[in-house]
Amino acid sequence: MQSRNSYQSSSRRGSSDERSSYAPRQPYAGQRRDRYSPQGSGYGGGRPSPRGGARAKQFIHPSRFIQAATVTEKAEYVPVHSFADFDVHRKILDNIALKGFEKPSAIQDQTIPLVLQGKDVVGIANTGTGKTAAFAIPMIHDLITHMDHRAIIIAPTRELAQQIMDECFSFGKGCGLRSALLIGGSSMGLQRRDLRYNPRVVIGTPGRIKDHIQQGTLPLSLFNFVVLDEVDRMLDMGFINDITGILSRVSPQRQSLFFSATMEPRIANLIKQFSNEPTTVSTKEGSTVDSVSQDVVYYSGGNDKLDKLHDVLIAGDCGKTIIFDETKRSVERLGRELSARGFKVDEIHGDKSQAQRSRALQRLKSDEINILVATDVAARGIDVSDITHVINFSTPNSYDDYVHRIGRTGRAGKTGIALTFLPR
Ligand code: AMP
Repeated sequence: MQSRNSYQSSSRRGSSDERSSYAPRQPYAGQRRDRYSPQGSGYGGGRPSPRGGARAKQFIHPSRFIQAATVTEKAEYVPVHSFADFDVHRKILDNIALKGFEKPSAIQDQTIPLVLQGKDVVGIANTGTGKTAAFAIPMIHDLITHMDHRAIIIAPTRELAQQIMDECFSFGKGCGLRSALLIGGSSMGLQRRDLRYNPRVVIGTPGRIKDHIQQGTLPLSLFNFVVLDEVDRMLDMGFINDITGILSRVSPQRQSLFFSATMEPRIANLIKQFSNEPTTVSTKEGSTVDSVSQDVVYYSGGNDKLDKLHDVLIAGDCGKTIIFDETKRSVERLGRELSARGFKVDEIHGDKSQAQRSRALQRLKSDEINILVATDVAARGIDVSDITHVINFSTPNSYDDYVHRIGRTGRAGKTGIALTFLPR
């Protein structure tokens, strides 16, 4: 594919399998909900701090933050097809080989033949299982063989959209497909210019796609291949109206693919409304959190919270680490504190420009830094290999957010460590 955007390669691998030594030190019964509120100032104290604009926190019992990783020897998936069995353009097969993919993953093995037959597909799979190639390979084949076809891929976050773009680029190299990446934090002007070249592939986040629809710069009725990635996350993030608006504008003669880690009634309703007799493929095995060793770290007042974090970060098994904190300000402040203590750290949150966020991720990927402090939204969809630790410096708003946070580690058959900080 051709694009004016820059591309980075990405891969997912696993991490350490050691259990953390931060055992709970007191009974959990009777803990009050407000004890898990973020701290208003400093890093100690137990002062609950209701923040203007922040979502109300769901009570999560501390026992749910503690679980040993299950290192089960899963039987390796034996695909029915080899990549060569798929009736796709030679160029794509060459690009797959160049990427070093030897055999299809389960979701690819089962989804690609259906998409090549022109069917609508609902793919239920955990993150990190090869979903992107499952739709990108047949999509690119479709675009190469039908010059009047155009595809739009919708993803919840800028980072995920960028990663999908990178992956599509590598499968479509040399195929002459022009693309545009429509994400927030990047110049509307440059995106408008990319759209004027009539890209065959558009990848974007719901909000920015909506902006282009409103400005009349994205002729959605010309798009007849639609992919929704991480539908569950998009609905969690409140994008239902934007998605409905987008899907009702694309060509009615279209092929639609939906990918989600979970299937709930609201997702089923959306799919029912916007698909045509879809075939469901589910390759979901257990929960992603099973591969993450989870524990809590209790802290008391003063600087104890930061000191405890310091101890975790200098422990021998701590490699690449994502630390979640609650607000843009607290993320900035924690990043500064850790930097002052000599850690190699960067921050991502919603006030950073897309270029700054991409640069921070790139620095983490290339080992220039090993700690990324992030807010939930900024960290969604991050695909960085070898994340050994996820640290919840502030507790997540919901268990669902917790699962998404700790899913950044323990990927691709490996185990990782998640530590959640709780006030004593
Ligand atoms: P995804 O779930 O699409 O984000 O993919 C997770 C990671 O697995 C990415 O780094 C992919 O490049 C990689 N990957 C996907 N499919 C395969 C495959 N068949 N063989 C080897 N690696 C793969």
